[in-house]
Amino acid sequence: MAVSTGSVNLGQGFPDTDGPAFMLAAAEQAIANGVNQYPPGRGIAPLRQAIADHSARHYGLGYDPDAEVLVTTGATEALASAILAFVDPGDEVIALEPFYDSYAASIDLAGGTRVGVGLFGPDFRLDLDEFAAAFTPRTKLVLINSPHNPTGTVLDRAELAEIARLAVEHDVLVVCDEVYEHLVFDDARHVPLATFPGMRERTVRISSSGKTYSATGWKIGWALGTPELISEVTAVKQFLTYVSGAPFQPAIARALNEGDDWVAALRADLQRKRDRLAAGLRGIGLEPAMPRGTYFMTTDVRPLGYADGIEFCRDLPTRCGVVAIPHQVFYDDIEAGRPYVRWAFCKRDEVLDTAIERLNRGL
Ligand code: PMP
Ligand code: GLN
Repeated sequence: MAVSTGSVNLGQGFPDTDGPAFMLAAAEQAIANGVNQYPPGRGIAPLRQAIADHSARHYGLGYDPDAEVLVTTGATEALASAILAFVDPGDEVIALEPFYDSYAASIDLAGGTRVGVGLFGPDFRLDLDEFAAAFTPRTKLVLINSPHNPTGTVLDRAELAEIARLAVEHDVLVVCDEVYEHLVFDDARHVPLATFPGMRERTVRISSSGKTYSATGWKIGWALGTPELISEVTAVKQFLTYVSGAPFQPAIARALNEGDDWVAALRADLQRKRDRLAAGLRGIGLEPAMPRGTYFMTTDVRPLGYADGIEFCRDLPTRCGVVAIPHQVFYDDIEAGRPYVRWAFCKRDEVLDTAIERLNRGL
């Protein structure tokens, strides 16, 4: 719809500016140097080392680059591989709902059953009692996404500690989708669940260069965990794609090793963009739920006379020339998501301003 109506696309979450210049040059150089054939199955050694070093540097969580790191085709493939590896037909998977769309598909492919625990509006916080009540003897896996797409919620230490305690008590595996690990605002901090007692040995951590280095089209992600867990994930990855983007791997290794300042600037810039879009949305009568992480914000569209986010998002391109995403696509419990809409703010200032101008004119 965005393309066919010439709309400003604040729907799909991808940045409209590129990652660090030295990283882009490194990929071009790799192609010119003939890095164009199958890389090693688990990823090139310098990238696995850079991923392990990055984890140790930021969180004090060390991983063995040879046995505990797997490079994947985006976080999406890491998630699919982990879910297919660990979930058998009839197993239950607890996931924070709303959830990123690939979770539902991967759990279905594995024959598992989704058990959603709501991060529901208007505040999008986790109800820990509801989370505790979601465990059954069939629970195999808990899927945690923080910072959370689409709500922007960042779980705090107390919440993570309780999730960790329950995971240990019920002896389940945990997959953490940490793709927005560096995109946190104000005083929010990303703390990996794997840092809590009893968690490292039961947790697969997943992240992606797509978000951290604004290279969503390169599809280089990774999974971290114990040798046993990563072997199982690798066994699936091997037959989904076998290997991942050869010339991008050395470029992402450089970004991980040398890009901390670039990422700090990205984070500050995104926080400013968040505030810019929020001010614009307030101006048209929509009060955003301020995200503490990710590059998405949510509004309830009822103040504009719409009861349904899908109806609003269907009208918006022709009415205003702007695209947003209805929350309902991220829910099993459609009712809980009905009035909410997600807006991406990872866009150039002039694009955000054009969107706001158009909304002001059209609504
Ligand atoms: N998880 C979440 C929560 C996401 O928002 C995304 C990006 N849309 C992904 C996973 C997938 O990341 P990638 O593009 O690296 O596959
Ligand atoms: N992560 C992005 C989003 O949630 C893009 C993923 C996609 O287009 N499937 O919008």
